[in-house]
Amino acid sequence: MSKAVIVGGGAAGMAAAVFLAEKGHRVHIFEKNEKLGKKIYITGKGRCNFTNACTMEELFDNVIHGRKFLYSAFYGYNNFDVIDLFESLGVKTKVERGNRVFPVSDHASDITLALERRMKALGVKIHLKSPVKEILTEDQAAKGVTLENGTRVEADAVLVATGGLSYPTTGSTGDGYHFARELGHTVTKLSPSLVPLLTKEPYITSMQGLSLKNVSLSLYCGGKKCWDGFGELLFTHRGISGPLALTASAQAGEYLEKGTLTGQIDWKPALTVQQLDERMLREFAGQENRQFKNVVPALLPSRAVPVFLEEGGIRPEKKIHDITRQERKHFIKILKSFPFTVTGLGGYNEAVVTRGGVSLKEIRPGTMESKLVSGLYFIGEVLDADGLTGGFNLQIAWSTAYAAASAVQ
Ligand SMILES: Cc1cc2nc3c(=O)[nH]c(=O)nc-3n(C[C@H](O)[C@H](O)[C@H](O)COP(=O)(O)OP(=O)(O)OC[C@H]3O[C@@H](n4cnc5c(N)ncnc54)[C@H](O)[C@@H]3O)c2cc1C
Repeated sequence: MSKAVIVGGGAAGMAAAVFLAEKGHRVHIFEKNEKLGKKIYITGKGRCNFTNACTMEELFDNVIHGRKFLYSAFYGYNNFDVIDLFESLGVKTKVERGNRVFPVSDHASDITLALERRMKALGVKIHLKSPVKEILTEDQAAKGVTLENGTRVEADAVLVATGGLSYPTTGSTGDGYHFARELGHTVTKLSPSLVPLLTKEPYITSMQGLSLKNVSLSLYCGGKKCWDGFGELLFTHRGISGPLALTASAQAGEYLEKGTLTGQIDWKPALTVQQLDERMLREFAGQENRQFKNVVPALLPSRAVPVFLEEGGIRPEKKIHDITRQERKHFIKILKSFPFTVTGLGGYNEAVVTRGGVSLKEIRPGTMESKLVSGLYFIGEVLDADGLTGGFNLQIAWSTAYAAASAVQ
C-alpha cells in the first residue's frame, strides 16, 4: 500500500481521496482553502449538477476537448457509477430536464459533505489552509510535496487536482499548470470557456434580466453560419448568457480568433414566417384603430417591447390598419433573425471551465499518470479536457480521479 498525497480538495481531489482510501492506501489531501470543495458549492446554481444520466455516446458527444483521451476513464467509471456512489453515501438524487442529475435536496453542499464524511470515515488526513508550493521528484519519479510553509511531505504517489483558472476566488488559480511546467510538461493555450458572450449593440444590453426559453441561436463567422443551437438564453448588462450562450462560447473563442463573429436569435423557432404572420394578423384583428405600440406587448416579453418598437421597422404610433404586409414581413424577419455582434468572451471570473491545460499527449489515458514523471498523476480540470454544461465537467473530474486512484499501487 502506498502513501498518496493529493494536491487540491475540489471535486477530483476529494473523489480520488475516497477511491484511494477505499483501496487501503494512506491518503493525505492538501487544500489551500479553509474548507473543501469551495467550487462545488456554486455549481449548478448552488444545486450541483454532478453528472448527466445520458448514454455513453452522449457523454462523449458532450466533451469538447479530450474526447478520445477520456475513453477509458469514462468506461472505467461512468455517470451511473457516480450516481450509485452518491446514493450509497446517502445522497438521494434526481434527474431533471436534459438528463441533468442533482441531489434531491437541491443543495450542492450534500455532495461535498458526503465525500468529506466518507473521507473521514476512511481515515483520510485532511489538511486545510495548506497550499502546496512544489512537487518533489527524484530520478523522474514523484517523491512528495513541499507546502507553502516549508514542510516537506514524502509520498509514493502525488495526484495534482488543482483545477483550472475559472472563478479564482474558489481557489482555482492555476497552480497545477505551474507544477506541470516545472516538471517539463506542456500546458496548452488556456482560455475561459462556457462564458457569456459580450456583444456590441446597446439594444441587447437594454434587455438585461430577460430570460428566453426555447429559442435558437446561430453564430456566423465572416458571414457564414458556423454554429447553431437551441435552448435558454439570458440577456445581461454586457451581452448574452444562459446555457445556450455558454455552450456557444465553447466554440466562439476559436471563431473570434479568426475574424468577425456575428449572431442571430430566432425568438420563435417553432413557428414559420407564414405562421407568425397569421399570428400577427390574429392579434391585429379587432384592434385596427389602435396604435402598434399598444398591440405589440401581446406578442413579446415586456422587456423586449421597446427594442422591437425601435428596431422592428414599424413606427410605434402607426395604426394597425395602416401596417402593410411588407412591414409585417420585415418585423417577422427581425423576430426570426434578431442580429447582434460578438465582441469577445467573459473572463475567468465568470467562466464555468478553463479551456486548455496539461497536454494530454503527455498523460497516460488509462491511469492519468504523467509520461514524464512516474507516480505523478493529473486529474480533473487541470487537464486539457473540458465538456459542455449539463454535469459533464464534474463527470470528467470523477472519472479521471477514479482512473488515477485505481492505478496507484
Ligand atoms: C459557477 C460554476 C458552476 C459550475 N457548475 C457545474 C455543474 O453544475 N456541473 C458540472 O459538471 N460542472 C460545473 N462546473 C465546473 C466544475 O465545477 C469544475 O469543472 C470542477 O469543479 C473541476 O474540479 P477539479 O477538482 O478539477 O477542480 P476545482 O473544483 O477547481 O478544485 C481545485 C481545488 O484545488 C485547490 N488548490 C489549487 N491550488 C492548490 C495548491 N497549490 N495547494 C492546495 N490546494 C490547491 C483549490 O483551492 C480547489 O479547492 C461549474 C463551474 C463554475 C465556476
